[in-house]
Amino acid sequence: MNVNQSAPPVPPFGQPQPVYLGHHQSSYGGQPGPTTAPTSYGAYNGPVPGYQQTPPPGVSRAPPSSGAPPASTAQGPCGQTAYGQFGQGDVQNGPSSTVQMQRLPGYQPFGSAILAPVVSQPAVLQPYGPPPTSAQVTAQLAGMQISGTVAPASPPSGLGYGPPTSLASASGSFPNSGLYGSYPQGQAPPLGQAQGHPGTQPPQRSVPLQASSFTPPASGGPRMPSMTGPPLPGQSFGGPPVSQPNHVSSPAPQALPPGTQMTGPPGPPLPPMHSSQQPGYQLQQNGSFGPTRGPQSNYGSPYPGAATFGSQPGPPQPLPPKRLDPDAIPSPIQVIEDDRNNRGSEPFVTGVRGQVPPLVTTNFLVKDQGNASPRYIRCTSYNIPCTSDMAKQAQVPLAAVIKPLARLPPEEASPYVVDHGESGPLRCNRCKAYMCPFMQFVEGGRRFQCCFCSCINDVPPQYFQHLDHTGKRVDAYDRPELSLGSYEFLATVDYCKNNKFPSPPAFIFMIDVSYNAIRSGLVRLLCEELKSLLDFLPREGGAEESAIRVGFVTYNKVLHFYNVKSSLAQPQMMVVSDVGDMFVPLLDGFLVNVNESQAVITSLLDQIPEMFADTRETETVFAPVIQAGMEALKAAECAGKLFLFHTSLPIAEAPGKLKNRDDRKLINTDKEKTLFQPQTGAYQTLAKECVAQGCCVDLFLFPNQYVDVATLSVVPQLTGGSVYKYACFQVENDQERFLSDLRRDVQKVVGFDAVMRVRTSTGIRAVDFFGAFYMNNTTDVELAGLDGDKTVTVEFKHDDRLNEENGALMQCALLYTSCAGQRRLRIHNLALNCCTQLADLYRNCETDTLINYMAKFAYRGVLSSPVKTVRDTLITQCAQILACYRKNCASPSSAGQLILPECMKLLPVYLNCVLKSDVLQPGAEVTTDDRAYVRQLVTSMDVAETNVFFYPRLLPLTKSPIENTTEPPAVRASEERLSNGDIYLLENGLNLFLWVGASVQQGVVQSLFGVSSFSQITSGLSVLPVLDNLLSKKVQGLIDSLRAQRSRYMKLIVVKQEDKLETLFKHFLVEDKSLSGGASYVDFLCHMHKEIRQLLS
Ligand SMILES: [Zn+2]
Repeated sequence: MNVNQSAPPVPPFGQPQPVYLGHHQSSYGGQPGPTTAPTSYGAYNGPVPGYQQTPPPGVSRAPPSSGAPPASTAQGPCGQTAYGQFGQGDVQNGPSSTVQMQRLPGYQPFGSAILAPVVSQPAVLQPYGPPPTSAQVTAQLAGMQISGTVAPASPPSGLGYGPPTSLASASGSFPNSGLYGSYPQGQAPPLGQAQGHPGTQPPQRSVPLQASSFTPPASGGPRMPSMTGPPLPGQSFGGPPVSQPNHVSSPAPQALPPGTQMTGPPGPPLPPMHSSQQPGYQLQQNGSFGPTRGPQSNYGSPYPGAATFGSQPGPPQPLPPKRLDPDAIPSPIQVIEDDRNNRGSEPFVTGVRGQVPPLVTTNFLVKDQGNASPRYIRCTSYNIPCTSDMAKQAQVPLAAVIKPLARLPPEEASPYVVDHGESGPLRCNRCKAYMCPFMQFVEGGRRFQCCFCSCINDVPPQYFQHLDHTGKRVDAYDRPELSLGSYEFLATVDYCKNNKFPSPPAFIFMIDVSYNAIRSGLVRLLCEELKSLLDFLPREGGAEESAIRVGFVTYNKVLHFYNVKSSLAQPQMMVVSDVGDMFVPLLDGFLVNVNESQAVITSLLDQIPEMFADTRETETVFAPVIQAGMEALKAAECAGKLFLFHTSLPIAEAPGKLKNRDDRKLINTDKEKTLFQPQTGAYQTLAKECVAQGCCVDLFLFPNQYVDVATLSVVPQLTGGSVYKYACFQVENDQERFLSDLRRDVQKVVGFDAVMRVRTSTGIRAVDFFGAFYMNNTTDVELAGLDGDKTVTVEFKHDDRLNEENGALMQCALLYTSCAGQRRLRIHNLALNCCTQLADLYRNCETDTLINYMAKFAYRGVLSSPVKTVRDTLITQCAQILACYRKNCASPSSAGQLILPECMKLLPVYLNCVLKSDVLQPGAEVTTDDRAYVRQLVTSMDVAETNVFFYPRLLPLTKSPIENTTEPPAVRASEERLSNGDIYLLENGLNLFLWVGASVQQGVVQSLFGVSSFSQITSGLSVLPVLDNLLSKKVQGLIDSLRAQRSRYMKLIVVKQEDKLETLFKHFLVEDKSLSGGASYVDFLCHMHKEIRQLLS
């Protein structure tokens, strides 16, 4: 029996092997050649009504044209948000009268209890002797006092919740920041601002501008962001309001050495760089912007709508506040730095059960010694409670974030491919688990006991091997499936649909050629790009050309199919106008090999932009387009992917027709959930058919206004596809971003027609799943397509008692068709520890993964529950987790102390970022489509992506010596950390800002922007000039490196300090209060402390 014909004998723990998909096909005995599509497919025989064969397009340029000319239609204002990108023209709304913010209905006042126990002593970090392996963070919060300062009527940076008297104001419950036009309110940017968006202005516009409330902050003078009053009385450490550019990132409150007591005045500021691993903790003042320890914004209370509202009539009482020093609370930056320093140098070896891997922000190598790499699976905890009672008590979700086809760094070996020949992979007879390192061989090797269900199975004769004196098979290290955490099996025909080996998959490009798509330049750009991009379709290892076939469709209200058969001199177009009953008018010549049909394809791509250049058709269909692509794949009997390039709400008469039902008035009502739900069930039905065919849909959206992302993304979401959104697409501004995303998306390796099953050992089982997939039953995750960026998050629950000795096992098996049409099984195994002491659970948690799970849980929750309920649920769960720790694991201490488990000390700050994210607490500038888009994106994100998405990275560029080209250490995402003498990059995986302080040295400005002064820098700039100096090259290099780390291209936006665009930038300073009412980190921590105390009392 040859285990692995294709790969060299497996050395222990795998040296790098030919990369994934490098497996030579020669080893695959039973693979049939590419099957050709049957020539007789029922529906396509005989005369087909509804289409006429047109002459080659070059001969007769007669694009179908109907509908009114596009003047004044379909051109709403562009809702530019952080997800669409920005041109400076979008931010020119002038100041206007104050908009008073109304208290949001149902807004639960937070923080009032914080006002109660006033202890007149400064915030104190009490010494606490932590247990040796579980340091705790303690902070005295009882005395914290956030007094209510009255919000000024016209705040410069913050549309504050005013005092109670302002409640009965404005009709809309949301203010408009003026930064963005919001479609539903019918607002348009002022006419005079077209310069930033040439060509995007609608031909006619009659909607008056209203309610832009942005008041630019006064410029000049010392910068005191967000501070609206004098230093608060009782403030114990407020520096003078002078600008002093040195900022200090403090060491995090690590385990405090006994006897460290933080009282009294602050110590001297630390030097600007991290003073690494300072064990003791120094309280310090680091703000350069004056007395910034007070309430940060002009909200009257720590949470909007809190203490000063309602119950407290009259002016708020300026109680002496005892603010918590932001440096005294756990810092994400410090935790990330510490992990990098402690765990970045050694490879992570997976041989030991239940080891917590390094953080996702740490660069480390993985050696597979029997458990799946954390690149494939990350868990919320690596030590899970033995009983469900314990689990319920702790409330820590038990979940795994699985990325079955994760891409690996070049230094790490891709999974070996094991070929067991016709007998197929060896499995347990009862639970069908696949052979893995945890199976126990007994009776001299003649049988094995399943590690998942304990069933005793016979070892087939050809698989027999003797055991050594420890009971281990002597060939264990020669077989990946006996020694490694991750590997692949070649699947037999039994694992194939209809017991037939699959054909190679196909890609179908479906291009909207309606007026908007043509006018923006999209169609021309796309066709030009495809001419070269098609040469780079994914291929298997050594293959000379991709096995993937391609096809082309254009559409507006009708569909145009193209025959690009290699024997044709010119492509042929076939129009299907009967969109109500979609069919594919041709089989032969629709899906072709790129090389064979190169000339015809090139000719087609040249002609498409010309053919539709004069179109006046503005209406589009959508569902019929997907239907057509799916039918084409079905006819060709293959799986594949549709690449849809679409511009507008599909209002043409056809199945899946949509209406504009956007309504921001629903925000914060019980009906808000409808904004996230699809408006028709038609797309779910369609998606189901797509999944059955292995038809994955990737959607590229180019909307100028509301397109109902919530509905349009249903099919991509359920078929494992991706959605990209380019609001107000203009070639000159957005082509780099779009082309970059497109190239990556087309070239990336995809598994098709996939099914994933997660098996677990007795005692726990997978009960819930999150991600982009479809489920027809409770166990099988069906993915029409799955790429290397997508994750599936799985939640586990107890169904029996676990024991510490056996631990808990999981096995994720993914059956899929490779890009060359090979059917394979990828197996990932992971063993976890089990505990009878809660402390062990809390010692082995991973907060980044917890947040990934909790965000996905919440983002799904908004489909069925009011957003407020979802937020409250998260807060309650977090409080319960921390209260349980406090009650059961922490050493006795005074109730006034907030004690956080070391592994979870960032839970509050990260959770707060989730709570105030656009989905759960939208600002006025965030459109309904943006929210649906982000909701959909987060569903498939891995842990690294959610980590940076919710807590963006803020990198100072001019702090470190210019010669130092390594990535600078990040600073905390707070305005207090910005020095006006510096330049910063901020990224969150989707957006990239370059913030320029107003006092940056002239030389720096010259080096980076090629202009002589700050005032000459163009705000909103998206490309930095390429200049021949060290700083310019360093910054360009850093931007390139950040982009390379992310799965989507991040367009750069240059933001100048005190410029209007800065409001947008500040949205990402997540430790601060947000304009939409999101709490600051400090305030949220106080609130969390209050919640915990309530649970404990
Ligand atoms: Zn079994």
